[in-house]
Amino acid sequence: MQLTGNHESVFCGICENRSSVAIRITFPPPMSRLARTLPNGTHDSRGLDDARIRSVRPLITPALLEEQLPVAAAAQALVADSRAAISRVLQGLDQRLIVVVGPCSIHDHDQGVEYAKRLKEQADALKDDLLVVMRVYFEKPRTVVGWKGYINDPHLDGTFAINEGLMLARQLLLDVLLLGLPVGTEFLDLLSPQFISDLVSWGAIGARTTESQSHRQLASGLSCPVGFKNGTDGGIKIATDAIQAARASHAFMGMTKMGQAAIYETRGNSDCHVILRGGKVPNYSRADVDTACKLLGEAGLREQVMIDVSHANSSKLHSRQISVAADVARQIATGDRRIAGVMIESHLNEGRQEIVPGKALKHGVSVTDACISFDQTIPVLEGLALAARNRRGIAAT
Ligand code: PEP
Ligand code: MN
Repeated sequence: MQLTGNHESVFCGICENRSSVAIRITFPPPMSRLARTLPNGTHDSRGLDDARIRSVRPLITPALLEEQLPVAAAAQALVADSRAAISRVLQGLDQRLIVVVGPCSIHDHDQGVEYAKRLKEQADALKDDLLVVMRVYFEKPRTVVGWKGYINDPHLDGTFAINEGLMLARQLLLDVLLLGLPVGTEFLDLLSPQFISDLVSWGAIGARTTESQSHRQLASGLSCPVGFKNGTDGGIKIATDAIQAARASHAFMGMTKMGQAAIYETRGNSDCHVILRGGKVPNYSRADVDTACKLLGEAGLREQVMIDVSHANSSKLHSRQISVAADVARQIATGDRRIAGVMIESHLNEGRQEIVPGKALKHGVSVTDACISFDQTIPVLEGLALAARNRRGIAAT
């Protein structure tokens, strides 16, 4: 291979299967010539590179954050045990229902902990029927623009204090684990998992990124089970493709815990599943589960789904989650073992609010998608637990 331009080339001979072949190897220009085109280190004064970069600030490394906020042995054991339990449900070895429940997004540490304390009481009361995982979402995919979450902008004011956001995110995960609740989150950014994924028991890839090769590669290397949402248009094929892609091994570029660029080779993740979140129309009915499972079966994958009762399945009307969950509970109670999990968007108080500069936010109300209140959540959880218990009874007979 010979490159054109001012690269210099030499010939060398190597032996291949006893016959000698000539290979042309090219070298980049000597450093002195590079230095003349980039006089100030990496800053390109010609404006050909970084032309649209306003600023570059230092980022802490995952190793440094982990040193400041290490994980205690009890929390580590909870993460390991809950990952294994979720995996057992996905393999059909545990008849409980996975329930990923919590706010659409975290925007305040203390309110997150207050929610976790209330959820922990329910999780304990229903633990024979439900495997409760708290939704602790720090990264928000936006259809156009908007607040991108607690890691990206923890002060909710456009200051983008990402180092602080990472610290606050890790601290909240540790605090929720300390209460004894496993945590689920969406992985949107491709570098942030290195800072927090050791504390996560279940991960989601969102509707806008399920088709992304980079996110499928990431899922193939994550240590936890991963759910792929169907597309925003309702397409399920992209999610079944994603499960197949994530099950395979991949090689890609990433960052080590020390903050160094690296080439990762993954083993593949066999603990992945689809999340039905609706599209142009809802897709939580028994017929929709049939359609999704047919596609999964054709792809040689486990015929199982998690149903997100929010987003396009509730037509973005938060209170509709209650009737959607009741419908899903009926499907489960009548013996449908393909429904492995349910997702609910729930906060301390119901509804949503806009972030308005200078205006105080209401306590425990979502700043992204509208949520049901915690009081509304309790009977939904109890209904799902009863359904899972009935299903177990049917399975046993
Ligand atoms: C969410 O879970 O809050 C979310 C953004 O979901 P989706 O990717 O399905 O839109
Ligand atoms: Mn949401």
